[in-house]
Amino acid sequence: MLDFEREVHKCHKCKDDELLISVVRYFPVYSFGEIKPGMDFVVVGVNPSDQEYEGQDAPLNADPHNLVARSESQRGYFRKYLERGESLYPYFREISGFFDDQNRGFFGDAVKRKLGYDKSPWEKVGCFDLVKCPTRCSEGQWTWIGEKRRQTFIRNCEQYLRRQLEEYKPRNILAYGRDVGDWFEKYLKVECIEWEITKMKLNNNAVRLLFVTQRQGNKHSKPEVIWINRKILEMLNSE
Ligand SMILES: [Zn+2]
Repeated sequence: MLDFEREVHKCHKCKDDELLISVVRYFPVYSFGEIKPGMDFVVVGVNPSDQEYEGQDAPLNADPHNLVARSESQRGYFRKYLERGESLYPYFREISGFFDDQNRGFFGDAVKRKLGYDKSPWEKVGCFDLVKCPTRCSEGQWTWIGEKRRQTFIRNCEQYLRRQLEEYKPRNILAYGRDVGDWFEKYLKVECIEWEITKMKLNNNAVRLLFVTQRQGNKHSKPEVIWINRKILEMLNSE
């Protein structure tokens, strides 16, 4: 395990915050699946849900004393689903669909071939969040915890995203969710327009960013999914 990863796992910032303590019960998530330097594509989401840690078949290890097992469960997150032949949580299923050319039919499997994945886009696509801490309040997940607390979470956790971007230098980024789009706008002083590709410099590298807002119940319409898939191909081809 990387020292940096260990640092994220042990981070207590959000748990020490009185404003936040009631909505954060579990540990930060470094990444879902493996991330490697120079990946063609990464997805940056808003934050993990605590569902990942709950229930008998929860995909993430919730043992507070076993950091290595927890790291392993996060890195092997998608692998586990594939091995069990189960389908992903709707959230990840939705994003997987953006990289799955089946949705476009006619155009074949251009994104799949370009990324070089076999069964799942997550073999090649990295996934980490702006806020590393999973949240839930009595009303629900992230969107229900209120603007003030959301901003505090973002302030506490954003340093890790910045370092991950520096370290892994992804070539293309899918910014998923309004808060992530807003964060990139501020951080990089660029304008993120929904559905459009933004070119920018990130740590001296040319990077393309596609900003996609989330839909209620993780359900983009078919034309939207086709649009996103085409944009992803455009990004991959323009290198
Ligand atoms: Zn945090």
